[in-house]
Amino acid sequence: CGIVAYIGHREACPVILKGLRRLEYRGYDSAGVALLNGQLNVYKKKGKVADLEAFIADKDIHAHVGMGHTRWATHGEPNDVNAHPHYSTSERIAIIHNGIIENYAALKKHLQQQGHEFHSDTDTEVFVNLIEEIQKQNHCTLEEAVRLALHEVVGAYAIVVLSKDAPDQLIAARKGSPLVIGVGEGEFFLASDATPIIEYTNEVVYVNDYEIAVIRNGKLDIRTKEDVVQTPYIQKLEMEL
Ligand code: GLU
Repeated sequence: CGIVAYIGHREACPVILKGLRRLEYRGYDSAGVALLNGQLNVYKKKGKVADLEAFIADKDIHAHVGMGHTRWATHGEPNDVNAHPHYSTSERIAIIHNGIIENYAALKKHLQQQGHEFHSDTDTEVFVNLIEEIQKQNHCTLEEAVRLALHEVVGAYAIVVLSKDAPDQLIAARKGSPLVIGVGEGEFFLASDATPIIEYTNEVVYVNDYEIAVIRNGKLDIRTKEDVVQTPYIQKLEMEL
């Protein structure tokens, strides 16, 4: 339902939580964050963003890279385990996802045969394990694994992916579900609409269907899923706060 991610010099978690609250108008049943700080910490809860905040009050939330999600369940009941972010079997890669993966059942069966473990009933958990399996088989970068995974999933998605093995990097992609990138000074914001972004920057890039955005070393790289480099089109938003 709602996506917010951040990479830059600020503490990521407060930016993400504030952004998730700005997206609350969309309606949701659970909320969660993944924070990258040497470790990959995932905290998620059924209920409101306020419930998530209470849950993480005594947790380690220090990070400059992270992402958060508010879920509107389509596959699997609303509960703590089905809440996003989801992580791969190795617990090294995490994903947040808006939309529906239609062929998740077939992919899940295949991945289970390859030894992947599933904790949730969601279609989303299949996506992150598929990325992990592709990376393992091809010995490729996370970015390449995400790109190849997009050729195997059928359905609609806006996703953000991060990995313990790619500590200063956010990868996002979309087909059918909206995704906006906010371009700040040495910092980037990602969200399902511009409302969480506008208080920080009015320069935004709308990700198009079948595009993959990689944010790394303060740079934004956008490619199609056929790996053709795109020139990001930066738009200036004029919005009242
Ligand atoms: N299909 C996913 C799920 O049920 C994502 C739902 C959403 O867009 O929030 O977990």
